[in-house]
Amino acid sequence: MTQEVVVSQHRSATAGLVDRLWELQQRSGTQHISPDEISQVARDLSVSAGYVRGVASFYSMLSDQPRGRHVIRVCQSPHCELAGGTELLELLEDELHVDLGGTTRDGEFTLEGSSCLGACSDAPVIQVDDALYTQVTPDLIEDILAQARKSDWVHSQPHLPSILGDTHLLRSVDFDNANAVNDYRGLRKALASMSPDDVLEEVKESGLRGRGGAGFPTAKKWEFTRSATGEQKYLICNADEGEPGTFKDRLLLEGCPHRIVEGMVLAGWAIGASKGFIYIRGEYAESISRVERALDAARRANYLGKNILGSSFSFDIEVHRGAGAYVCGEETSLIESMEGKRGFPRLRPPYPASFGLFGKPTVINNVETLANVPSIIKDGAGAYRSLGVDSAPGTKLYPLSGALKRTGVAEAPLGTTLRELIYDIGGGITDGKDFLTALVGGAAGVFLGEDMLDVPLDYDSLAANGAVLGSGAILVLDRDCQVAPLILNILRFFRHESCGQCVPCRVGTARLVEVMENILEGRGTSEDHDTLLETARVMKETSLCPLGQSPYPLLKSAFHYFGDQLGTSKAEGRS
Ligand code: SF4
Repeated sequence: MTQEVVVSQHRSATAGLVDRLWELQQRSGTQHISPDEISQVARDLSVSAGYVRGVASFYSMLSDQPRGRHVIRVCQSPHCELAGGTELLELLEDELHVDLGGTTRDGEFTLEGSSCLGACSDAPVIQVDDALYTQVTPDLIEDILAQARKSDWVHSQPHLPSILGDTHLLRSVDFDNANAVNDYRGLRKALASMSPDDVLEEVKESGLRGRGGAGFPTAKKWEFTRSATGEQKYLICNADEGEPGTFKDRLLLEGCPHRIVEGMVLAGWAIGASKGFIYIRGEYAESISRVERALDAARRANYLGKNILGSSFSFDIEVHRGAGAYVCGEETSLIESMEGKRGFPRLRPPYPASFGLFGKPTVINNVETLANVPSIIKDGAGAYRSLGVDSAPGTKLYPLSGALKRTGVAEAPLGTTLRELIYDIGGGITDGKDFLTALVGGAAGVFLGEDMLDVPLDYDSLAANGAVLGSGAILVLDRDCQVAPLILNILRFFRHESCGQCVPCRVGTARLVEVMENILEGRGTSEDHDTLLETARVMKETSLCPLGQSPYPLLKSAFHYFGDQLGTSKAEGRS
């Protein structure tokens, strides 16, 4: 039996399973999926109940155990920890008389943690059901709980991360009203006067590179799928933004969903796909709601659906909701999740470009990447190349958080320096303190010190200096901050999110936490430095996906700058 046949059989069995489990859980009143429901789903899909239970247990937002009427999630990202998240959690534990993971005796609340809720410029953050509460102070807790007690389900409040004010360095992001369809001028122009090849060529000319982290040339990705064998091709917009410190895609999904929809239609046309999907992380309830409204409006205006704007091109988009698994941001595990499986990353090759969703050629692009496409087509590649640097044209969204006077998402040309982002755009360090370091790229990023303030923030300049741009997230620390607890927080995050498929990652993430805890509890030894770096190095060389590969550059950069705080000398370079 060929791999393709196996996959297509599997599609009929389990595709959309995660969405179905979500539905059952939300209807339950106790935020769980019962054993009877699991058995029923298994019968419907002709798979075993163990399979369904196995999928449900992979995702932290799904549960097969009864929970409270409301689930409170406390963000445990480094950003929230620095802003008082731990104290907030302790307060909630006291107030509700439960530990983390517990349910109150009256069945009202279950208290859970979350690796990152994606509103890092407004830390600390908690979520109650679908509603996000930002800049939470202890005096607000009583009101938040009282409000929840009055409702069956707490819905999202309109919320957008703060946007930086005027600055000569930036164009701020324009917000469309999610209810109103924008003019789709890029799509109109393409369908009226350009072939799919022309669109692909224009994107190639623009030099657009993927904004999800790797910086792979977008047009090259499209070309691979366009020329792959097979009639059915898919486009997936990866909106599983789980990298701690990163909240740019949330801003785009909630602020200008039509730009993403338009980018997807153009990409679909260029690669020969008739079907697209947006996989949005489960925590982003408001984003899901706004994108669904935008899709409805786009369909009504015939920017989606059959024969778009009277052309021969038909294309539609479906939303999938993630369910709490950082690893699903990796493209092959995202595909597995959409196919109704645990989100384990796949061995590559084959690559999604030729063997992706349901075994079909598939392009997976980040939200920000797709949001760039309409203006490239509308204004032309030349205009696009006037911003940024030769090797990476255009602008980048840099989520700024931490010890800055102004935090939020900054849009700045690629190649803007850290100094410009911190001092010109971010207004400098809070309380007149001195800069210590910036963690660039989220948990999967590296620390940059004062010596890197003037290095252009673009893919190649950073790579030449042994660093990465990653998601572009920037967490700024002042000289009063302790780096060691922050590193422990990140290592715990990796341990929690490791899918366990590779032994070096599963065992290594636990070992890194153990050693770091020893250091922080005063039981460090002279071997800790070597143990941490050697463990992380082995993980980097043997792990299947970026999660297992990320601790090494993070720890190397930490030792380079803060070896003293970690109980060792500055023995290691960054590269
Ligand atoms: Fe899973 Fe870690 Fe292996 Fe990635 S590296 S596949 S997260 S075990």
